[in-house]
Amino acid sequence: MFTVIRNGHLFAPEDMGKVDILICAGKIIHIGALINVSGLPLETKIIAADNMYVVPGFIDQHVHIAGGGGEAGPASRTPEIKLHQLTTNGITTVVGLLGVDGVSRSVAGLLAKARGLEQEGISTYIYTGAYEIPTRTFTDSLRSDLVLIDKVIGCGEIAISDHRSAQPTLEMLAKLGAEARVGGILSGKAGIVHVHVGEGKKGLQLLFDVINNTDLPITQFNPTHTNRLDRLFYQAIDYALKGGYIDLTAGINPRDDGPRVLHVVQAVKYLIDAKVNLKQITVSSDGNGSLPHFDSAGNMESISVGSVEVLWKDVRELIKQNILSFPEAISLITCNVAALLKLAGKGKVKVGYDADLVLLDKDLNIDTVIAGGKVMVQCGQALEKGYFKEAAFQTTS
Ligand code: ZN
Repeated sequence: MFTVIRNGHLFAPEDMGKVDILICAGKIIHIGALINVSGLPLETKIIAADNMYVVPGFIDQHVHIAGGGGEAGPASRTPEIKLHQLTTNGITTVVGLLGVDGVSRSVAGLLAKARGLEQEGISTYIYTGAYEIPTRTFTDSLRSDLVLIDKVIGCGEIAISDHRSAQPTLEMLAKLGAEARVGGILSGKAGIVHVHVGEGKKGLQLLFDVINNTDLPITQFNPTHTNRLDRLFYQAIDYALKGGYIDLTAGINPRDDGPRVLHVVQAVKYLIDAKVNLKQITVSSDGNGSLPHFDSAGNMESISVGSVEVLWKDVRELIKQNILSFPEAISLITCNVAALLKLAGKGKVKVGYDADLVLLDKDLNIDTVIAGGKVMVQCGQALEKGYFKEAAFQTTS
């Protein structure tokens, strides 16, 4: 079957104006003005997009798809994500990862969840590892994981500057980076080390030390949560100016009684002022991760669960507040992520690429989501709800 997205305003992310997009077998096979469907050899589904913007499906590179957390004990382990939670928020490609808990959560469980989501219709990858170093792997090494396990595209989230980290030294992080680098080269993957940066005293200093004292390139490490503290963010600007990629976490909102944090909008304003190349900036959600707050003595004050909905909520504000152009804003969660992670066929609306698309109404609400050519969301409602759909419990008698 063919599908035509008819007369939408395409941001691919570059502005392509009003076009038709022809989809077949999960791929974009033609983009042009007024495609004549009568000449097509198979049944054709038409999706009218006259008053819509069409953009690439979003890529969220930091989601605890198999759950995370546990900082307040076992009852605070966060739940697995469901398919529709991702798709209704425009996410058609997700990178799953473990966090602080690499004991009761496993890379095997993470891989199984990623495979399940893929079976349900979206694209998935994973980072091997968890907060700690030596980290959690499938095989005897990170290098082998990258070479042998298709879905593994890097390592993470490895924690630094955090009381929950392994308190890694320069040597520990350098060795991990070296494993990731060679594994990435041998497998033809990005081999990125995705680095969780906490609220610790030294911020990104350990990353700078590794870069300055080894032959690893700065692009080997991708620090995230960089907007969680202002003093950390100033280091992150420096990191980006030196050529590194930095990731911002959506959903971080300043609190009167908390440390000085930066919302994505504020962080991007600073990055523009510092003349950082915006291609080196990505945004992720930390969805389904735990969001614990600790006091200055390290005691936990409160804990909640992150949601992937903050990804588009924050990025669309960049457009609404005229901070970035439409293409620049969309790039933060599409082609920039695909380039960093070397995701072939992802991040753009282009002939030969996967048919992962989001249709936005004029107020930038998510209306329709297409993953691999299949309509997953229509009028903001999930058509596909995954294997068990709504939780239904039956008792046998
Ligand atoms: Zn984290």
